[in-house]
Amino acid sequence: MTDYIRGSTRPHKPPEDQGISLAGFGIPTASMNTWMTLQGWFAAGEVPPCAGRHEWTSSSTKDKRLAIRLCADCPAKHACREFAETNNERYGIWGGQDRSTR
Ligand code: SF4
Repeated sequence: MTDYIRGSTRPHKPPEDQGISLAGFGIPTASMNTWMTLQGWFAAGEVPPCAGRHEWTSSSTKDKRLAIRLCADCPAKHACREFAETNNERYGIWGGQDRSTR
């Protein structure tokens, strides 16, 4: 999931950065502000708890509970949740919620 959030990223500050079209990365217009908020966190050096971990996409209840618990301390939690809700993300834990609680 973190790879998904960070996968197309580099610090992106329009209008200075004219080189990337977010639409080309499949970021819906409705999510642009949230996407930018998330990128701001990561560009500031924040490393989310989900970085490099499997629990956020695991089907194990135990893993999901751990992911949800660890999301609670993530500074990107609200933006992450909003992004998932806006994009109707169907899989994984986003902002401390899974599909059943979004
Ligand atoms: S809120 Fe959870 S899923 Fe979203 S970036 Fe933070 S740790 Fe990852």
